[in-house]
Amino acid sequence: MALRIDPHTHSAVSDGTDSLPELLEKASATGLDVVGVVDHDTFGHWQELQRLAPAFRDLGILPGIELSCETQTGVGVHLLGYLIKRTDGQVSRIIARAQRERVQRLRKMTAMMSVDFPITYDEVLRYVSPGGTPGRPHLADALVEKGYFPNRSDAFDKVLNRRSRYYVHRWAPTPVEAIRAVVEDGGVAIVAHPFAARKGKKLSPASLSEMRDAGLFGLEVYHRDHTPADRETALAAADQYGLAISGASDYHGSGKPNLLGENLMPEETLLKLIKQASGKMLNSHVIS
Ligand code: AMP
Ligand code: FE
Ligand code: FE
Ligand code: ZN
Repeated sequence: MALRIDPHTHSAVSDGTDSLPELLEKASATGLDVVGVVDHDTFGHWQELQRLAPAFRDLGILPGIELSCETQTGVGVHLLGYLIKRTDGQVSRIIARAQRERVQRLRKMTAMMSVDFPITYDEVLRYVSPGGTPGRPHLADALVEKGYFPNRSDAFDKVLNRRSRYYVHRWAPTPVEAIRAVVEDGGVAIVAHPFAARKGKKLSPASLSEMRDAGLFGLEVYHRDHTPADRETALAAADQYGLAISGASDYHGSGKPNLLGENLMPEETLLKLIKQASGKMLNSHVIS
């Protein structure tokens, strides 16, 4: 039977709501063979994953990271970096700057929102794990707790999306910069949900050409934010640029409706990815 591989999930180290042990427990209980944990703009989950791996002998664990990027024309792109070997190299430099920008940005957005929806930054911080990556989902949690919105999704739809008047822009690396950093640090890069529209602009397939030249490995095709037409576009682009095909849930615990294992990475993509990476998956015996 084909391996069940869900390579893109989030823990409370960024904007998921499960702790790492809870996340691995659930991944195991839903019958996944391999789970990837890719918290946003941080390596904060990597050490604990290594510590936890022996307690989950039947679960392959892919340590990864999801870097928020922006193209020169202002399109938001999320880049997944897997099996990065050096966590003190180029990627860590991007992370350091992103974390500083995230704090400033979230402070500003909270201050702007508080005019219409009374809230303080300390209240937002209650939803961020110690040392975790702060983001708009935590502001959403605080707004929900105050009763202004029923859930995170509604808070994003009404006030936290890119077109909102409360939105504050922040610096982010370009996808090409992020791909180069991931590759230089020994990792493998996949663009997450490339054609998901949300409320921002959509990536043009042609822009994948320079990302491929920078060392991009693959594209997430099977993702709930992709319409059937988006999947077709992504499959065609993967074919045109010689990129591997992935799929994933993008599970965030109770922070989003996405369910573990609802979309999967083909087994051949994982084998290719591991071959290309210089780092190793945890519990790699599950695939041998
Ligand atoms: P930030 O990292 O602060 O830019 O916030 C982006 C994060 O917000 C993404 O990683 C998503 O997990 C989350 N997000 C974006 N749009 C939505 C939405 N419509 N509903 C719930 N969460 C969302
Ligand atoms: Fe997220
Ligand atoms: Fe994403
Ligand atoms: Zn994600």
